[in-house]
Amino acid sequence: MSIVRLHGEACYWCGAAHGPLTPAGSVTTPVEGGVRHWFIVACPQHSDRRPR
Ligand SMILES: [Zn+2]
Repeated sequence: MSIVRLHGEACYWCGAAHGPLTPAGSVTTPVEGGVRHWFIVACPQHSDRRPR
């Protein structure tokens, strides 16, 4: 998992960083002491996807 995808700077699914990116919810990753919430974005191709 690339950090730019978790930072919302590239499509979460394909990594595209060009073109319009739309908010696609958030994902959580385990960190020491709990979980970290990341707000992710999607390119037009994946704009209807949501993380599980
Ligand atoms: Zn994409």
